[in-house]
Amino acid sequence: MPNKDYYELLGVSKSASQEEIKKAFRKLAHEHHPDKKSGDEAKFKEINEAYQVIGSEEKRKQYDQFGSAYNSAGGFNAGQGFGGGFNWQDFARQNSSGGFSFNSEDIDLGDIFGDVFGFGGGRSRAGRARTSVGEDIEIVLTIDFKEAIFGAEKLIYLEKNDTCDGCQGSGAEAGSKISTCPECKGAGQIRQTQRTIFGNIATNVVCGTCHGAGEKPEKFCSKCHGSGRVKNKKEIKISIPAGIDENQQIKISGAGHAGEKKIRAGDLYVSFKINPDKKFVRQGQNILTKLSIDFVQAALGDKIEIETLDGVVSLKIPEGTQTGKVLSLSNKGVPELNRPNRRGDMLVEVVVKTPERISRQGKKLLEELKNEL
Ligand SMILES: [Zn+2]
Ligand SMILES: [Zn+2]
Repeated sequence: MPNKDYYELLGVSKSASQEEIKKAFRKLAHEHHPDKKSGDEAKFKEINEAYQVIGSEEKRKQYDQFGSAYNSAGGFNAGQGFGGGFNWQDFARQNSSGGFSFNSEDIDLGDIFGDVFGFGGGRSRAGRARTSVGEDIEIVLTIDFKEAIFGAEKLIYLEKNDTCDGCQGSGAEAGSKISTCPECKGAGQIRQTQRTIFGNIATNVVCGTCHGAGEKPEKFCSKCHGSGRVKNKKEIKISIPAGIDENQQIKISGAGHAGEKKIRAGDLYVSFKINPDKKFVRQGQNILTKLSIDFVQAALGDKIEIETLDGVVSLKIPEGTQTGKVLSLSNKGVPELNRPNRRGDMLVEVVVKTPERISRQGKKLLEELKNEL
């Protein structure tokens, strides 16, 4: 029987990490799945065989030691203590009952086969999480322009899964004895064998009796029916950092849904919708605004009061200012996120207005001025 290079089959180098091997296998398994158009059953079996060996640290060590020696001898048939050569194909299958087994501890079968064999409800977490980790929550909060610039504190109300106050998350009725689950004997999962076109595939599913906890109270908490969490309306205080913008998101760790039986809670992700301001426009760290002055102020220069985000300040208009000129007020822009002392500038675009109506006296003065220009 020809010996195969399992590294080559999975397209990884001999020094690949277990993680890289697993990744390569998953990619190829998807690609060559026999139910797909591009599928190839023989190839699919081959890559699984390869993964059975080099996907296991222990078997990989043996393969590296003996498998390569076999190869370098070019079909060398007397073994390295195995006698008659070593049949890696059989080695790969040695634990299998129906001729084809998967390493279900390493692979999320639902991911690969979920749509084909109907392992139930899409991605199967069987063999992974014993109880559910709390889900993340994502919300969009609408805030005012200045709240985004200077930061703010907001109270929001969220309906979410919360740790059950009847049992403090244990899932057991008060005073109820907790014992090892009789169904799964504490493992939290049950091994199931599924007949498929490739033979039998063994997989682990979450125990239905204890919901994966491995233990079972004599009596489940009457409030949460054993899950350890209940739906609650919660008030959450959100600190909005100064300088936040619409494309940014903040994460509040642990403020998502509570997990089952005190397992880690999810996180809360908040992104923002910012109401526009009538006077100011944000452009990165700078604030843009417009200022109308008359042509006499533009010609002679002036000192005027102008509104900024921080209140009114005085601004010097230089002599001979043209319309469209941008004057800058340093440090009156948007604070940098996490460094609120560093701020951008306020950029003031000057618009010179020409008077539409002028008194007779005014016209006379302008006529005189005309002769001066
Ligand atoms: Zn409870
Ligand atoms: Zn159980």
